Amino acid sequence: MITLLSLPAGLPSAAVVDLDAIRDNVAALNEHAGEAGVMAVVKGDGYGHGLLPSARAALAGGATWLGVAQLSEGLELRAAGIEVAMLAWLTVPGDRYAEAVRAGIDLGVSARWALDEVAAAAREVGQTARIQLKLDSGLGRNGVTVHDWTDLVDAALKAQADGAVELVGAFSHYAWADAPQHPTVRAQTQAFADALETAQHRGARFQVRHLANSAATLTNPAVRYDLVRAGISVYGLSPVPELAGPAQFGLRPAMTLLARVANVKRVGPGQGVSYGHAYHTPNETTLALLPVGYADGLPRHAGNTGPVLLAGRRYRLAGRVCMDQVVLDLGEPIDGPPAGPEDVRAGDVAVIFGAGTSGEPTAQDWADAAGTISYEIVTRIGSRVPRLYRGGDGPESWRGSA
Ligand SMILES: *Cc1c(COP(=O)(O)O)cnc(C)c1O
Repeated sequence: MITLLSLPAGLPSAAVVDLDAIRDNVAALNEHAGEAGVMAVVKGDGYGHGLLPSARAALAGGATWLGVAQLSEGLELRAAGIEVAMLAWLTVPGDRYAEAVRAGIDLGVSARWALDEVAAAAREVGQTARIQLKLDSGLGRNGVTVHDWTDLVDAALKAQADGAVELVGAFSHYAWADAPQHPTVRAQTQAFADALETAQHRGARFQVRHLANSAATLTNPAVRYDLVRAGISVYGLSPVPELAGPAQFGLRPAMTLLARVANVKRVGPGQGVSYGHAYHTPNETTLALLPVGYADGLPRHAGNTGPVLLAGRRYRLAGRVCMDQVVLDLGEPIDGPPAGPEDVRAGDVAVIFGAGTSGEPTAQDWADAAGTISYEIVTRIGSRVPRLYRGGDGPESWRGSA
């Protein structure tokens, strides 16, 4: 369990990432996945938790695949010596296909141009490219449409017969996985099954078929196929917060965001606080300044609402989120007695969010405060905030996250 964590001296802020939580979450996802394997999705710098440490912790938890969006992410994993099966699904014309083929990264193919570029890269390198065809079963985002599926399958089979590619897998992605009863879930599930059958008839033999993201993995056992692509749940956050929190799925949030109080001062009643004076002190009170703002990833939409734990009390931000700082009115906690200058000093540590097990708010609480999803809260934590790793196989270590 994460207890309230210390922040090394002199640091304004840090995101403490519990690698044991990531490992244990993947182990729990393996249980949810039944016979299917777990592809841990580490795109977006491991949803803000750090690409390499997250990947290693996920592998320690039993992930058999890693998933990324961009090729640069997969190539960084390979450069660090991570050799597990890996899929990158969002590429562009002229992308680093030759490097990917050399590195043995599976390439998601969503269009004919991509198949042609990948096959050309394979011929150039003199190695077979591993590809997985992506079907747009109804999401309306990436993937080849049902209409164009057969042509892409046939072209891929021809490229396979020529030795340029190996047709490893097929996959698709839901629009409404977080609403398991939504009619599109059933329709997309059927469209994917139909597409697999069509491909099979034309001669495709897929080693891996996959459809489920975190939400589907946790709510819909019927769509596990051979792999589940789990992202947000790896980091211990619920993909379906209206239905259940992390603990109900056996998950625990891995990231705790800490900030050190940079200033404390007494002000009178009616003092406008920060830009636009969006908050006024109702009484004579103590203000505390925290050196985190939207440059660090706090959503500006959480002005006057974002929750923070300081001195054993929960507060809502007083006024706007600025680029570098936010303010708390210590006299106006959400719960507990008002705090004063004797309770909080410059240098004390506030918890912006964490696992929620020691009274601190969670990333989900911040998402609710800002009208967004927990994914965005953790993923947007800025590069200025150092990541501090606990657990895993080494001692606590720092890395700049540039
Ligand atoms: C991001 C992503 C996932 C992971 O989704 P979560 O909801 O975070 O589990 C899976 N598949 C694809 C195609 C994605 O883009």
